[in-house]
Amino acid sequence: MNILVTGGTGYIGSHTCIALIEAGYTVVIADNLCNSKIETVEKIKEITNKEVCFYQIDVSNKSELECIFINHQIDAIIHFAGLKAIEESVRMPMQYYRNNIISTLNLAEACQKYNVRRLVFSSSATVYGENEVPFMENMGLLPTTNPYGETKAMSERILADISKAVPALSISILRYFNPVGAHQSGLIGESPNSLPNNLMPYINRVAKGKMEKLYVFGNDYPTVDGTGVRDYIHVVDIAEGHLAALNNLTEGIHVYNLGTGRGTSVLELINAFEQVNNVKIPYEIVERRPGDIATCYADTSKAEKELGWIPKYDIIDMCRDSWRFEINNEL
Ligand code: NAD
Ligand code: UDP
Repeated sequence: MNILVTGGTGYIGSHTCIALIEAGYTVVIADNLCNSKIETVEKIKEITNKEVCFYQIDVSNKSELECIFINHQIDAIIHFAGLKAIEESVRMPMQYYRNNIISTLNLAEACQKYNVRRLVFSSSATVYGENEVPFMENMGLLPTTNPYGETKAMSERILADISKAVPALSISILRYFNPVGAHQSGLIGESPNSLPNNLMPYINRVAKGKMEKLYVFGNDYPTVDGTGVRDYIHVVDIAEGHLAALNNLTEGIHVYNLGTGRGTSVLELINAFEQVNNVKIPYEIVERRPGDIATCYADTSKAEKELGWIPKYDIIDMCRDSWRFEINNEL
């Protein structure tokens, strides 16, 4: 089976390409490299020892995208391509809506035109807003605090409407919690073209001495130690989650959380990182970051029951693999 992976040279996409190839699928990557590097294609080939077909195209450009469907018989699409920096989305909402929404629409139209019946879409736990934890797939979506989050919620609604109109389509929406870690080879990991503002990349930078200390955004939340709690999940587990979603696609639209079901505070993550990697992470408590919620973790029972997917890796694995990639690669 030929799988079109949009955003396949990105962080989660590249790990998913490896999982797909190792499971026997043929992968066609479409990525405009706005937040990833061409070398990732070679690294995927090196890890899997298989050929990968790569197109440097913009998925929001319909005619560029159609070339792929003309050249290949695509059986399923996994759609990762998107802009994802929350702060940037507040400054540049038009780019975010154009890129993220038009890409999803173009792919849905291509599904109809080229008779592709299977689509897996990258969504985010951010669509839950400030719901009660644990977040469950059947909860109503609450407004997010930024255009990025809105593009995910809108894309979900668009796909739900398309699913009603085209019942033969099988769509899986995967809501990721906080993906961290890297491939065990140390060859691929999170390697963005601009500085990410998520916690784990910052911890890595401090550990490497590129930053003097970590700023911890608030210690007055109603959590175990006052710092924000998130459901960190190993990127290789996320990749396996896509494989499980693809293998279990059925007609209609289905939503799954990809998280571990366990919350970890900022200070707990710092501690785990220090212990497993034997490094020091100096930090300073500062003001809360605007828009942050106190606690976010998944109810994972639906993915476990319907997809047979259970994450394998814990926080220690995530910190170890993340650091291994960081020290192997001069970013
Ligand atoms: P990433 O930035 O590493 O990967 C996204 C890839 O898409 C990049 O390689 C980028 O070059 C490409 N891209 C962006 N717009 C494109 C376009 N118009 N045409 C072609 N390529 C384009 O991000 P990631 O962390 O791998 O995230 C993948 C998906 O998962 C995104 O949709 C993101 O919003 C979603 N997601 C990520 C997280 C996270 O914390 N990493 C959490 C929830 C959801
Ligand atoms: N965080 C922090 N310092 C940083 C980056 C993040 O204290 O430099 C905190 C943030 O307030 C949140 C947690 O770490 O409680 C995870 O933040 P991240 O941006 O990684 O994920 P998100 O908040 O989008 O789930």
